[in-house]
Amino acid sequence: MPELKVKNSMIQVVQGDITKENTDAIVNAANKTLLGGGGVDGAIHRAGGPAILEECRKLGGCDTGDAKITTGGRLPAKYVIHTVGPVYRDGKHGEPELLKSCHVRSLEVAVANGVRTIAFPAISCGVYGYPIEEASKIAINTVKEFLETYPNCGITLVRFVMFGSDTFIPFRSALRDLGGI
Ligand code: ADP
Repeated sequence: MPELKVKNSMIQVVQGDITKENTDAIVNAANKTLLGGGGVDGAIHRAGGPAILEECRKLGGCDTGDAKITTGGRLPAKYVIHTVGPVYRDGKHGEPELLKSCHVRSLEVAVANGVRTIAFPAISCGVYGYPIEEASKIAINTVKEFLETYPNCGITLVRFVMFGSDTFIPFRSALRDLGGI
């Protein structure tokens, strides 16, 4: 499994279904309403059951680049961290900064809730149309930078769980570019 040690933590890239992950938290690529959608969002609500949506209703939506937490319902993960990725237009409308912010805010919310292990999907790489190679570099570099900056944040594992080889291969390359093996 491709992985990279960063200070007190490990970053991994795997192929699989994030709803099956037994990390403390999984991240959802949600939309601003937080009221459910397709892709990974739909899969998380289907697998986690109605409790997640009930909690989401009380959160009043979420801005692009921000993140909010609920329990994991029936999921193996204790928490779901819902973040809203940017819809990709041309890369000149703040998309890179917003995608970076999704990862930083998700990690901040995780740390604030005592999460030690967390799984991310390929945020914005589905319906939101972000070019996957660019997105993979932003995602992996941002997480590495966070773990270097906050080595005592308590997070021991960040696992990128890629659904298909279209995302797995570029995310693995981005990890290897940083010295991962
Ligand atoms: P966005 O709207 O942010 O683009 P999508 O859900 O459309 O979000 O897609 C994000 C990524 O999540 C895509 O690469 C998609 O293949 C992937 N995905 C879909 N279902 C799952 C799942 N069960 N586990 C992990 N990744 C998934």
